[in-house]
Amino acid sequence: MATLEHLNSEVISCRTCPRLVEWRERVAQEKKAAYSEETYWGKPVPSFGDPAAHLLIVGLAPAAHGANRTGRMFTGDRSGDFLFAALHRLGYASQSIAVSREDGMELSGAYITAPVRCAPPQNKPTAKEQLNCRHFFQEELELLKNVKVILALGAIGYSAIAKEFDLRPKPKFEHGLEVQLQSEMVLLCSYHVSQQNTFTGRLTEDMFDSVLHRARELGG
Ligand code: SF4
Repeated sequence: MATLEHLNSEVISCRTCPRLVEWRERVAQEKKAAYSEETYWGKPVPSFGDPAAHLLIVGLAPAAHGANRTGRMFTGDRSGDFLFAALHRLGYASQSIAVSREDGMELSGAYITAPVRCAPPQNKPTAKEQLNCRHFFQEELELLKNVKVILALGAIGYSAIAKEFDLRPKPKFEHGLEVQLQSEMVLLCSYHVSQQNTFTGRLTEDMFDSVLHRARELGG
């Protein structure tokens, strides 16, 4: 029987995209000076969270020295620092800091995934790579039976969700966008929690907390 656990084990062993396989493994060998003593994960990154989640958070792809190093979504980089701190404030995360797969972090009511599971160069997966990875996301949506709210972090996550739910016309991506999906679910959008947004003030803690509060109101 298909389970999220089984799906994640398939993700971890995937080698479908040659460019991404080469990149993720090269980064894991070369490493960043600050992490030279660490063993990088260097594989596709599985999703993470509560299988009974009402809130599904959809990012972009693992960061080269973040999740590609630690092996857990959003763990070990500035984006994750911002995201997990907010999830902790709102009661979804057991702790505010995520540093490794063994740090004790547990999510309650939330599940984190991405449309692309391997770190891409310049954080830019190609259209073909997104297409290759799409079936994992589709299978995950089938298996997450209790999701009420899908939160897209950034335009790529939003596009992946819009494609799955055949949104037509597709509303233009913007922070705070809220779309009723054909099912009972609601799609919410936020700017991505990347440093480019959080260090420049484009996305503040208050702005992101507001989106999470709205997700809670909607049953997520
Ligand atoms: S991006 Fe997805 S489809 Fe491509 S190698 Fe990684 S896990 Fe496989």
